[in-house]
Amino acid sequence: MPHNTPLKFIIIGASTAGLVSAIALRASGHEVLVLERDEELGGSPSIPTGGVRLPPNGCKILFDWGLEAQIRAHAIIGEGFTVYKYEGTDSGRDYLGTNRWDPELLRESRGDFLQIRHRDLIRILYDTALGKPLKNDSEPQLNGHTPSQPITFEFAAEVVDADFDTCSVTLKSGVVHHGDAIIGADGASGFVRRRLLAEDVAPLLVSGCDDERRGLALYAAIIPKSVAVADEELSKLYEYPQRNMVTFSMGSNRGAQAFLAGEDEDIVFWVYTPDADEDGSWTQVAEKNITDVVGPCDPLIRRLAALAGPATCVQIKNYYELKSWVSKSGNAVVLGEAAHPFPVVSLHTYSVAIEDGAFIGKLFSHSRKSARVREFMSAFEETRKARCLHIDHSEKQYIDVMALPDGPMQATRDAAMRANEAAGRNVMDAADVDLQQMWDDMRMIFGYDPADDADDWWMSWGRLRDAPSASKEGKLTEDIPNESL
Ligand SMILES: Cc1cc2nc3c(=O)[nH]c(=O)nc-3n(C[C@H](O)[C@H](O)[C@H](O)COP(=O)(O)OP(=O)(O)OC[C@H]3O[C@@H](n4cnc5c(N)ncnc54)[C@H](O)[C@@H]3O)c2cc1C
Repeated sequence: MPHNTPLKFIIIGASTAGLVSAIALRASGHEVLVLERDEELGGSPSIPTGGVRLPPNGCKILFDWGLEAQIRAHAIIGEGFTVYKYEGTDSGRDYLGTNRWDPELLRESRGDFLQIRHRDLIRILYDTALGKPLKNDSEPQLNGHTPSQPITFEFAAEVVDADFDTCSVTLKSGVVHHGDAIIGADGASGFVRRRLLAEDVAPLLVSGCDDERRGLALYAAIIPKSVAVADEELSKLYEYPQRNMVTFSMGSNRGAQAFLAGEDEDIVFWVYTPDADEDGSWTQVAEKNITDVVGPCDPLIRRLAALAGPATCVQIKNYYELKSWVSKSGNAVVLGEAAHPFPVVSLHTYSVAIEDGAFIGKLFSHSRKSARVREFMSAFEETRKARCLHIDHSEKQYIDVMALPDGPMQATRDAAMRANEAAGRNVMDAADVDLQQMWDDMRMIFGYDPADDADDWWMSWGRLRDAPSASKEGKLTEDIPNESL
């Protein structure tokens, strides 16, 4: 293939990871086809759209792409969180303390802590993928050229088979698509992840590598603002500063979060419960009512559950860790939840999926050679894996800390938080090593820039392996310089 011909990427999945990588790869001058199983963007409209917390490392990437105004128009700025005991006291709620995001930390990381609705974010990414300019009202330039063609989307296009050796995928309809590279952005239970799992172990053993449940399920529901403001208890969530805070409730093997999201300021309500066996998904209504699984709780949680619309139920799991994110053929890779599924509604699911997409797009701004696809896919895995696994570990720690069973450790946690509150400190600022470590971790995580990381790899390794080669005309050709996004 001539070096100035774009590579053709087939991306499976049109959610956060798929859309961001599509935008970034197109901006790097490549041809992109996105295949989505659902008939409509963002899932079925009959399922209530949920909410998302988007920390600085995620939103700053989108801001840098020129999407700040659109994102902010659909978001509430989170200023921190207040922490309560899940069960409350006989007389009402039991307050442990408050944590405010450090303005300096946010300034340093050039982002914000946004609360947005899933479908609004996906719609903004989709519009951008369809060709809305990324920056300064102009298309991003690559090597002096604007991206040659728009991204192609196919909905109701479920991938049911793939041949990584020939780099082709087969849809349920029987249609076959060929490309130079396949990106599996099809989620934690997606096709590409299962296929890589089959490469890890003999295909017949794949069912023996099932993801392990952690004993908690997550119920997610929405309470419309019109309903909430008419309620004595819930209307308090609309008073400043609580309107810009996540309400966090810690129980014994239980937990809950509530926050306002989106321009409509509806309440997003999440309950972590041991009382649900269902292995549900974001695209189906839960079998049980949320009121049946909240258990003993404080008045706020009781009112939220009573007024919540239909809920979804997703189990929190320890997912099987893929040995490799890249197929043996070298031309297929997983990213986002398909590569590193975090516990559901983790703080960083969206931001890290955005990082993945931005990273892969930036990486491929440096080459159009199909012969380098394997190396670039491996570079993605090598560079990104440690960070993603570290974040996964932290996310599990947050859940463990939140849902500590009653006992000595829970008592120590509560005492540390109450002491901080009494001293006027953030609840997470404790002398307690684990809490302080979690807070330091956030600083490291918020400050990350995937474009810099991709360029570091290119400068340290990639460009050195790419000695100029002779073109047919006898002229020396080099890979594309780093100019996109
Ligand atoms: C409809 C929907 C609603 C969600 N709502 C919320 C929410 O409110 N709050 C929250 O915290 N998280 C939500 N999530 C999860 C959240 O989207 C992810 O954790 C995050 O965006 C990063 O995920 P991802 O892009 O890697 O994968 P996902 O978001 O899981 O997306 C995977 C995509 O791949 C598609 N797909 C799967 N298999 C195939 C196949 N064989 N062929 C073609 N396409 C396929 C899926 O339909 C989906 O669009 C939702 C997910 C979905 C799919």
